[in-house]
Amino acid sequence: MNMKKLLAILLIIAMTFAFAACGNGNGSQEEDQGASDEPMVYKVAMEPTFPPFDTIDVDTQELAGFDVDLMNAIAEDQGFELEWINMGFDGLIPALQAGNIDIIASGMNASEERRQKVDFSTTYYDSGLVIAIKEGNTAIKGIDDLTPDMKVGAQIGTTGADLVNELYDEGKIGEAKIYNGLDVAVMDLQNGTIDALINDLPVTKAYMEAKPGTIEIVGDVLNAESYGFAVQKGNTELLEKINAGMQNIIDNGTFDEIYNKWFE
Ligand code: GLN
Repeated sequence: MNMKKLLAILLIIAMTFAFAACGNGNGSQEEDQGASDEPMVYKVAMEPTFPPFDTIDVDTQELAGFDVDLMNAIAEDQGFELEWINMGFDGLIPALQAGNIDIIASGMNASEERRQKVDFSTTYYDSGLVIAIKEGNTAIKGIDDLTPDMKVGAQIGTTGADLVNELYDEGKIGEAKIYNGLDVAVMDLQNGTIDALINDLPVTKAYMEAKPGTIEIVGDVLNAESYGFAVQKGNTELLEKINAGMQNIIDNGTFDEIYNKWFE
């Protein structure tokens, strides 16, 4: 074997190894990508007595509503998956802070107070609190008609409950009745157990429309609220995905489709 042939063979061997190494490199990179192709599964929680945002579908018994469709569309756009969890409204922020859930999608007002504890997405719905009474109650036409002999209800952990507790502390009402679920609060308003209920306008409207002629809304809208999805403080990776997905579904018309499904 002459020198040239030997060099040629050595070169071929060297190149074979180089290719093999290269191939391995690619292979493991593909494997890494394969691992990150597995969709992330985030735990998302809501309190389901807040129609049409958060409710339970009567047929399927699954969590349903504007928040569910919106968050599912965002997840699909961003390539992650969701595990939905039903929870008391006052348990949502503690669960997020403890890391037991990743997202709150529960018609939650992105208030300054809550922003001390959690981070909010771009807000997606403007709302406000209103007073509801039993249909035909002519004594209450607005917040100034509430008197120290009256019982006023709201849902635990909500901005409505903050206001009702404030009215009680100021001696303007006789009792602040704080409920776990709005369904029971509305029933108590319908049967006269409470004189008034302070709750979000679109949700009270949904209860009103579900049972026409039982309750009505009186007076002005009492404040301005904007709902956002919450993530753990500092979880910018997830927050950016939610915000990017939200923008995409606004741009491609999906947001409007979902909005029209629940509000028109
Ligand atoms: N908007 C109110 C709040 O953020 C009520 C939310 C709810 O009951 N889901 O406190």
